[in-house]
Amino acid sequence: MSTFLLEIVTPERKVYAQDVNMIVVRGIAGELGILPNHIPMVTPLKISSVKIKQGGSEQIVAVNGGFVEIRKEKVVILAESAELPGDIDVDRAQAAKQRAEQRLSAAKKDEIDFRRAELALQRAMNRLDVSDKR
Ligand code: ATP
Repeated sequence: MSTFLLEIVTPERKVYAQDVNMIVVRGIAGELGILPNHIPMVTPLKISSVKIKQGGSEQIVAVNGGFVEIRKEKVVILAESAELPGDIDVDRAQAAKQRAEQRLSAAKKDEIDFRRAELALQRAMNRLDVSDKR
């Protein structure tokens, strides 16, 4: 089965670099399956999981925003943050979720804090979801 190089990079580190068969990402326009020789493109990603198929196995990575860049020779995901399931601190994500929920109930909908809390909640729930699927 043919492969392509997938790199997942954050400002802090290279989270992932391996030859894979297929990935599925969640772009702002919906789910996108990427196979080898996909047409080059760039699209923003949601706070979501990236599913990676490699050999017979499937992996999952939590990504926080950023975008996917499909190049001729490789696919690069540049994200604010990205974690493999084993790197996710569940207690920390649960605490972040609680904090965000408290802020959401306290802030008014049109306040900047409300939007920030919404995004924090999405990040926490995405991490909990990915760590569940390990
Ligand atoms: P918190 O409020 O717990 O800091 P956050 O969503 O604000 O969560 P980010 O700003 O998205 O955190 O990430 C900051 C750094 O901490 C990144 O390197 C990210 O990978 C890491 N990180 C955040 N939450 C977790 C977690 N639950 N487990 C492991 N790493 C995490």
